Amino acid sequence: MGLFDFVRYKKERCNVDGREIIIIDKSKLNKEKFKKLHKIILEICSNYKIAKYLPKIEFHIKHPKHGNKIEEVNVEDKDYIVGWVDPRDLIDERFIVYLNPEYLESKKIKTNIAHEIAHIWHDYSSKIMSNKIEESDKLHDAIFKINKRFNEKTRSLRDHREFLFFYFRSIHTEGLAKFCEAYAIGDVLMSEKNFNEIYKTTKQLPEMIFDLWNSYLRKLGDNNEKERKDRESLLSVIGEKISTYDIGQHIIYSLLYLDHNLTIEKIAKLSFFKFIKKYEESMKSKNLKPLVSISSGEGILDYNRMLNQWWMVCKKLKFDKADD
Ligand SMILES: [Zn+2]
Repeated sequence: MGLFDFVRYKKERCNVDGREIIIIDKSKLNKEKFKKLHKIILEICSNYKIAKYLPKIEFHIKHPKHGNKIEEVNVEDKDYIVGWVDPRDLIDERFIVYLNPEYLESKKIKTNIAHEIAHIWHDYSSKIMSNKIEESDKLHDAIFKINKRFNEKTRSLRDHREFLFFYFRSIHTEGLAKFCEAYAIGDVLMSEKNFNEIYKTTKQLPEMIFDLWNSYLRKLGDNNEKERKDRESLLSVIGEKISTYDIGQHIIYSLLYLDHNLTIEKIAKLSFFKFIKKYEESMKSKNLKPLVSISSGEGILDYNRMLNQWWMVCKKLKFDKADD
């Protein structure tokens, strides 16, 4: 990218109740499209409670493939197509929502923008995403230490340890962002009926993930081409993390509905561990099985239990073979 490309970027600076909103178009939108998007952005920034918590927000309109590689690796998985945030911006408190010019006409553009702003605010409140980079680096180091015990055939096993960690993290970050989408359009009705319905429909997701996870573990030892493909497709279903949006949203809803001391602002400040613990307590007060848990073993998905399952399979497969 040369200097002249930079000069050609269209940049608009606005002030919304003392907060700075900057829109940078790197995709050369036509005047009409830009004007339309400009209107939508200002409307959200003026009315969406969550946006008001941020002193400054930038919106960069650019194609996802545009830019360096780091950006492509770090974008939010599912939001990739319409909009995304890059956790590396958040480390320096640069609050940037990236928007794909191809999808600006999408019906869901408002909720998508609200979703990304919620991610930024969540990080602003608790550093959940920018710390994730550090935690992920630490995890890499730890895995690297035991790396020599992984032979060529079983090398992919170590990725799955990391995968499990991010799956659980995603329940927290995507759950909050998804909840805020509905919150942005004032579409959250707290009632016993809604609570029960959401619980009932969401419950199927962790059950499905747990079944997939078990079939995946069973297939880990098989090394023929077909089994390998089956395994990969199983992992990709879990790995798409789509289920984490709904599971997370159910947790936020349950916390707000059952624990009257909590607000969305307080929830955003909770560490992941406390977030799940509080959820477990709330569900207990209702005599309901929590959908996820960290270490109590109560949840349909329990982080420690899944980690132990993974570890048992690893030990059986690679350490036996490494000893040969
Ligand atoms: Zn997201």
